[in-house]
Amino acid sequence: MYRSTLRAAVALTAAVAALTSCTADTGEEPAAPSVESASTFRDAPVAGVNLRDGEIVLTFDDGPATSSAAVATLLQSKGITGLFFAVSHHLGSVEGGAARLDSAGVAKLDAVLDAGHVVGNHTHDHCIQGASACGGRGMTTLSAAEARRQIETADVLIRAAIASAGHDASRYLPFFRSPGNAWSPALAQTLSQASLPSNAYGPVAWDVPRRGEEDFRCWSEGRSVTSCAARYVSAFQAMPRGGQRAVVLVHDNFTQARELTERFVNALAGTRTKAGNPVRFVHPRCIVGCTR
Ligand SMILES: [Zn+2]
Repeated sequence: MYRSTLRAAVALTAAVAALTSCTADTGEEPAAPSVESASTFRDAPVAGVNLRDGEIVLTFDDGPATSSAAVATLLQSKGITGLFFAVSHHLGSVEGGAARLDSAGVAKLDAVLDAGHVVGNHTHDHCIQGASACGGRGMTTLSAAEARRQIETADVLIRAAIASAGHDASRYLPFFRSPGNAWSPALAQTLSQASLPSNAYGPVAWDVPRRGEEDFRCWSEGRSVTSCAARYVSAFQAMPRGGQRAVVLVHDNFTQARELTERFVNALAGTRTKAGNPVRFVHPRCIVGCTR
């Protein structure tokens, strides 16, 4: 529908090549690559299973937003690459198969890309069960056609926005996160039939924060950033010896996102895990496995 078969094959090859050649942000000992055989939708969400003890990947959901640039520059100053799961209605709309970009939204994404980060797919409308968007339906209760449209539209707009901002297409990782982490094997089957230029990998869930301790709950409860960051740090420190590895979720559409991220990183950088390994913030590609 959106891309030719040839282009799809090329894109898939490029995506897999990128996944197999990635390197962690910090220098690590040589090791055999641990790469999953294919990047496809799973029956159940995955998070940090391919990370090693001490490794953390920072992910940011629901932008690009006004606060995204501050998060992006903070990470850049610390030498960390973040994965920003974009909601594409911020970037424009698709009409007749063509992207109509919103320049303000593209500028916000451009700020993220200028700071060296990568982007994932978080659907077009961010459908959450019981919320106002999408008639109150979440991803698992949308029609198959609408579920596919949600991810296809985001795919078109994210690619168009990256190109429009003058960045390389490789800055879009073939990663998908479902709004609210809503998922089912049936949805995996539905989305596997979507018209995407490469097979997406996902859904990517998270290990930190713990359920019920998410940043948006902190802010709705009136918690301080210090208090919320302590929850995030505690969640990592509570992981079992030898299994302290985490995909971390922060929502960059909140103004507190930069400070929360800074406090979390500062609290853990330079520390060691219970097993004695250094805590390090690695490239988001390491979610599927990378050469270190
Ligand atoms: Zn979200």
